[in-house]
Amino acid sequence: MKVAVIGGGWAGLAAAVELTEKQVETTLFEAGRQLGGRARSLTSDGRRLDNGQHILLGAYRETLALMRRVGVDPEQLLDRRCLQVIDNQGFRLALPKLPAPLHLAWGLLGARGVGLREKVGTALWMARIKNRHFRLQHDMTVAEWLDQAGQTGTLRQHLWEPLCLAALNIPAARASAQLFANVLRDSLGSNQRAATDLLLPRVDLGQLLPQPAAAWLTAHGARLRLGQRVRQIDLGEQCVMVDGESFDHVILATAPQHALRLCPEIAADFDYEPIATVYLQFGQQFKLPFPLINLNGNCGQWVVDRGNGLLACILSGHGEWESLHDDQLGTALLGELNVAEKPLWKKVIREQRATFSSTPGLSRPPWATTHRRLLLAGDYTWSDYPATLEGAVRSGLRAGASLAKAAPEQVKIIVV
Ligand SMILES: Cc1cc2nc3c(=O)[nH]c(=O)nc-3n(C[C@H](O)[C@H](O)[C@H](O)COP(=O)(O)OP(=O)(O)OC[C@H]3O[C@@H](n4cnc5c(N)ncnc54)[C@H](O)[C@@H]3O)c2cc1C
Repeated sequence: MKVAVIGGGWAGLAAAVELTEKQVETTLFEAGRQLGGRARSLTSDGRRLDNGQHILLGAYRETLALMRRVGVDPEQLLDRRCLQVIDNQGFRLALPKLPAPLHLAWGLLGARGVGLREKVGTALWMARIKNRHFRLQHDMTVAEWLDQAGQTGTLRQHLWEPLCLAALNIPAARASAQLFANVLRDSLGSNQRAATDLLLPRVDLGQLLPQPAAAWLTAHGARLRLGQRVRQIDLGEQCVMVDGESFDHVILATAPQHALRLCPEIAADFDYEPIATVYLQFGQQFKLPFPLINLNGNCGQWVVDRGNGLLACILSGHGEWESLHDDQLGTALLGELNVAEKPLWKKVIREQRATFSSTPGLSRPPWATTHRRLLLAGDYTWSDYPATLEGAVRSGLRAGASLAKAAPEQVKIIVV
């Protein structure tokens, strides 16, 4: 069986690894010169950076497993920390290394800047939604959900709303409560304490998955066609033609706007949210008290300490920051960071269509299409999650596994 995977982001890579491991003849087409898609590294002014700061969670089970499959040790390349939400206005919630759910109860109880009544109310609310398996009767905005739950105090402002923006890349006033609840289910609501851990990359994104996956795929006989943008897919009864080349099946693993261009019948017409990452380089000795701080500002949301004096400030979702030019952004962020020191160097990277907008009741296309030779993969097809690396990887594994299952058994002839 010959399969074409179109798109070399984390979804396409996952699909290609799954297929190749099951000895399916796989060709991966990637329009860019490098793999990784929306989670890739790049070189700017001679420095290795990411197209955007990414944060992983211990709950990213399949992503971590995929890294191991291609020979990467996630514990080496990711800085694993117990979750702490700290901001520059005195709020702090730190989860201790206790078994779940004790760690959450203890963390809530010890939260700084929150009254006891609110802590107890929140613990009871968490217990209630856990009992309902994090299923809402109907979807609504996160803001409406928090209102209904009486979550209107400090924890809303310093915990839930920042977590919503971080996880869904859209403010609580527009975000889907069900998708946020799903994220809570697999992190704070998980029975595995490690699921809540923060995993901050120690290396650039290319080294986390795209480069080792490419090496693994090549070593295992898959074909990688970098810099080859697919222009046309012709679906037939006997085969599918990808730019005139014949395959048995195709997995379309591009972002939704690109999938639509190739297959206009796919229901993937979304709105999108931007993300900007502002890198600020200070002297080598510059250090944040914890590697992830919530800025809770008008401009930036989170700042990550990348080590050696490099900070990555994250600006998520639509906002006034979009109208500021790069120098203005830098100045606004220095104010929010409350740093008097001038950065030695800075770089702003804007991704206009970073993620689809995870709004309430969003309709997402099924991964199996009406044509048996065409499957979809990509973060937007993993309808349980907002746009995340884990959703992308799971979608790719699912598409790859479903085709690999259909492939005839490999026959081994043993000569004695
Ligand atoms: C700045 C930023 C920050 C983010 N932060 C986080 C985070 O902290 N945590 C998290 O979990 N997620 C985060 N995300 C989301 C995450 O990066 C995405 O959900 C994930 O990378 C999507 O992967 P994908 O494979 O589905 O799609 P993509 O990464 O979009 O991959 C699709 C690939 O298809 C290729 N392609 C398109 N058209 C064609 C064609 N015609 N022929 C061949 N190739 C084609 C593209 O070049 C691309 O490489 C962030 C995203 C951005 C942009």
